[in-house]
Amino acid sequence: MNGKKVVIALGGNAILQPGQKGTFESQLENIKITAKQLVSLVERGYQLLITHGNGPQVGQILLQQKAAEKDGIPPMPLHACGSFTQGLLGYMIQQCLYNEIKKIGIKKPVVTVVTQVLVSKDDPAFKNPTKPIGPFYSEAHARKAMEEFGEIWKEDSGRGWRRVVASPEPKSIIEIEAIKTLLSQGAIVIASGGGGIPVVLDDNGQLIGVNAVIDKDLAAERMAEEIDADIFVILTDVPYVAINYKKPNQKNLTNITLTEIKKYFEEGHFKEGSMGPKVKAVMRFVENKKKTAVITSLDNALQAVEGTFGTVVSP
Ligand code: ADP
Ligand code: MG
Repeated sequence: MNGKKVVIALGGNAILQPGQKGTFESQLENIKITAKQLVSLVERGYQLLITHGNGPQVGQILLQQKAAEKDGIPPMPLHACGSFTQGLLGYMIQQCLYNEIKKIGIKKPVVTVVTQVLVSKDDPAFKNPTKPIGPFYSEAHARKAMEEFGEIWKEDSGRGWRRVVASPEPKSIIEIEAIKTLLSQGAIVIASGGGGIPVVLDDNGQLIGVNAVIDKDLAAERMAEEIDADIFVILTDVPYVAINYKKPNQKNLTNITLTEIKKYFEEGHFKEGSMGPKVKAVMRFVENKKKTAVITSLDNALQAVEGTFGTVVSP
């Protein structure tokens, strides 16, 4: 048993593939495949702290809230919908991991922690919401939502109107001590799903949920620092981070130092909203902890953790 602590951030494709409708069954099928990958790590004695995105799921739940409103069922706010997705996806990941580790004769508790993540009330992101959520609507629908609920909606390049929310910086993980305790007891832990439920401190020092979406890779990085992870791995749908991405002179990055990738980051090679936050998260971890972080695709999970495949960023 090597006992190394690994934080793994699972991208959207680990749960829902492009073009799939998002039924419970299709999501569970994808998660089964993901669980098999993760179990190969458990088998080798790695201690896992797992997190996941929730974009499509929270979008679906928001729509369900709206649809049920006409039947007199009060819609839940966005932060509450985020908590629904932590439960839903946590349940599916827990079940699949439980089943997979049982097959290979390992007995380990698998547990999901509903996780709140503290953000600053004064985060500039609140003054400039940029993160679109849910589907496109008509201008009339958008104007009504802005007036009635004080939501912010923006027109998206001629395609229609979408609600936008703030994406503030994760400051700290409220449940981190519980997460650490569970890990130290040998549990496989799933936490901070969807970037965590964003909360702020009110004037009386009390936690209160806010309608925002925290980037899951940045929240994962906070956890990786706080649990003092040995390695931080972001699993997405591309095997490597590239420079000149999708251009004839595209070059995949394999082993790279912090200084080199920082330079590429500043030159704007990594798209905001997709690869940008992943590279940012990885740079933070390597810089602050002087340890390695990896970005690669899901099917290379084991090699990634061993630092032998993917974009491996070292101090
Ligand atoms: P996830 O759901 O895993 O968070 P995202 O879709 O947010 O994944 O980000 C991964 C995507 O980032 C890739 O599918 C790729 O299309 C895109 N991408 C943007 N810039 C780059 C880059 N420089 N190198 C590699 N992929 C990039
Ligand atoms: Mg995605």
